[in-house]
Amino acid sequence: MEERDLIVCEECGSTEIQTQAWVDANTHQYIGETGIDRDDNWCNECEAHNYFCTKTEFVERMEAWWGDTDFPTMEKVTGFRQDDFTAEDGYQEFVDACNEWWKTKSYDEKRAIFKEHNSEE
Ligand SMILES: [Zn+2]
Repeated sequence: MEERDLIVCEECGSTEIQTQAWVDANTHQYIGETGIDRDDNWCNECEAHNYFCTKTEFVERMEAWWGDTDFPTMEKVTGFRQDDFTAEDGYQEFVDACNEWWKTKSYDEKRAIFKEHNSEE
């Protein structure tokens, strides 16, 4: 299975997820998913019934969030300080440094950060 075809929890991006399925009572052969209802889905990490999406979609959401993140949040996440950088071009050096930092993070590291900053609504 290719990486981009992975299904993840829509809330946290975890692959530790289960969905209910129809199985032949005699042979235990997999027949199909029960449906598209979120109640049929379970995320081990959220310990909740959540919708699933593809990993690609989740990565796109995380990257979109990071792209829209304001400076105070970027400071908090990266540990960099905006004041340590030149104000030229709207603190472009600060933004570049933060983006480089973000790029070095793994999928799991990114989704931990994403979850922390997107859980309170
Ligand atoms: Zn989850």
